[in-house]
Amino acid sequence: MEIFPPLNQPADLVGYNLFESDPVLAESIAENASWAVTQLSRFGETLGQADWLEQGRLANRHEPILQAFSRQGQRIDEVEFHPAWHRLIGLGVEQGVHCLPWVEERVGAHQARVAAHYLLTQIEAGVGCPLTMTFAAVPSLRRQPELASQWVPRITSRQYDFGLRPPQDKKGCLMGMAMTEKQGGSDVRANTTRAEALGDGTYRLQGHKWFCSAPMCDAFLTLAQMSAGVTCFLVPRILPDGQRNRVHIQRLKDKVGNRSNASSEIEYHGAIAWRVGEEGRGVPTIIEMVNHTRLDCVVGTSSLMRAALVQALHHCRTRSAFGRKLVEQPLMQNVLADLTLEWEAALQLMLRLAQGFDGSVKDPGEAAFVRLATAVSKYWVCKRGARFAQEAMECLGGSGYVEESVMPRLYREMPLASIWEGSGNVICLDVLRAVHKTPETLELFFAEVESTRGGDRRLDQAVDNLKASWRRPEEAEVRARRLVERMALVLQGSLLLRRSPSFVAEAFCGTRLGDNCLMEFGTLPSGTAHQALLERGWQNALALR
Ligand SMILES: Cc1cc2nc3c(=O)[nH]c(=O)nc-3n(C[C@H](O)[C@H](O)[C@H](O)COP(=O)(O)OP(=O)(O)OC[C@H]3O[C@@H](n4cnc5c(N)ncnc54)[C@H](O)[C@@H]3O)c2cc1C
Repeated sequence: MEIFPPLNQPADLVGYNLFESDPVLAESIAENASWAVTQLSRFGETLGQADWLEQGRLANRHEPILQAFSRQGQRIDEVEFHPAWHRLIGLGVEQGVHCLPWVEERVGAHQARVAAHYLLTQIEAGVGCPLTMTFAAVPSLRRQPELASQWVPRITSRQYDFGLRPPQDKKGCLMGMAMTEKQGGSDVRANTTRAEALGDGTYRLQGHKWFCSAPMCDAFLTLAQMSAGVTCFLVPRILPDGQRNRVHIQRLKDKVGNRSNASSEIEYHGAIAWRVGEEGRGVPTIIEMVNHTRLDCVVGTSSLMRAALVQALHHCRTRSAFGRKLVEQPLMQNVLADLTLEWEAALQLMLRLAQGFDGSVKDPGEAAFVRLATAVSKYWVCKRGARFAQEAMECLGGSGYVEESVMPRLYREMPLASIWEGSGNVICLDVLRAVHKTPETLELFFAEVESTRGGDRRLDQAVDNLKASWRRPEEAEVRARRLVERMALVLQGSLLLRRSPSFVAEAFCGTRLGDNCLMEFGTLPSGTAHQALLERGWQNALALR
């Protein structure tokens, strides 16, 4: 018998259905992609099992290892992963996280895919990187039809087939992306890698990339200079004749988080490549890919918010202090209600973007709106992520700071989505550029948020103020973060008015849109529907078995 039993220590959160216990996600999918409900519900059930939760832990504990050389000293440039990583990524491939909209013709395929990705990332975020890059490579690849016809069927396969072998011998392939160099990441036009045409339709690359995640992928989209300017290329790891391409992995990065995923530095020593898109048009070609990876930054952060929120709810529901459950204490209720509000606002934005990607196929106006809204959402949701994780961690007190609680993993993961695929400033400058180049995208943006005009006076006022700010051209660059933050907030407010219960929209518009909003979570004013908000969070928590 234990002398000091673990009294008042909440049990691990296991054995719940991540899909069914998330009413915002489940309702939206039922409405917009009902064909996917059964599959997603099964997936949510699977992921909530102790075995799969453990796979996430193991994949992080046992980080990838670079095997640069064979025993005989020959370069092999391979990466070794723990079996848990293979199981997790295999599960993602089986669910089509890397391909669903490219193979599924039913309406709502983007929404079904983001839902699956959002569920998987709650268990482990690291595998999301190669799944996202594989998904996002397809629109860029399609700019070079003969390459697309070879590669798209391989990368949209639902079979995970690990290992460096000729693509034609594999049941499925994964794609990565290598743009960032030592002297410039955001500034890709400063790339120094050079490409030389070999006259047979292929090119030889000489240079390096400072960041190249998931280097075990079968091929990469990369950028290199030609006389016409920066050009996009496909670089396979293994050449069609079975030889290893001259892509050398220098080392793996020792990162804050995202530790199950390998991120590397690579060098091209005469690597053979195939051009994607026109010479000198590399940036617009790869931007197609980046627009899709930015969507997944929003998906990943919304997912990590959900994972942190359910841990906080679960803990506070079970743990007592000063004679009452934490969840019954008014100030903790305020914190949990505020976190619930933030999560729902992020998730509604994610779902709207995915709906926009679905709609973009037939509607150019929707495509233009979604391109701007994706950048705006990527900036704001990802910025909120780290702050959110810190507050959710604090709900668990000291236990939240301890590895076993899962919270440190979520906390370390959060800042990444804000940095890659365009760090905060770069995204805001992109938004300015997009509006300057195609002013009608801003009109489409305002048309969307104006659809709820009259629904909440604070939202109406915030939209009017935002319009006035955009009419002032002076010092737009220095004001870019203010503009983009406010765009995200009015879009979230408008979405919550349309899609969520009125008490959610009321609390959001009352606390996020005015000029005097407080900055910390847990500062919803008295008179806010704390209880109703908590019950929305509670509803979810109660559904956890
Ligand atoms: C874990 C991890 C994995 C990654 N994987 C990949 C990968 O697979 N492939 C790949 O290509 N890249 C990858 N990256 C690189 C990532 O995309 C870049 O780090 C990121 O785009 C920023 O580029 P940089 O590091 O060169 O920073 P810089 O471009 O030097 O930017 C530094 C800071 O300055 C700001 N800044 C830049 N320009 C301006 C400006 N004009 N005005 C104001 N502020 C500005 C930026 O917002 C940023 O905050 C990865 C990064 C990480 C951390």
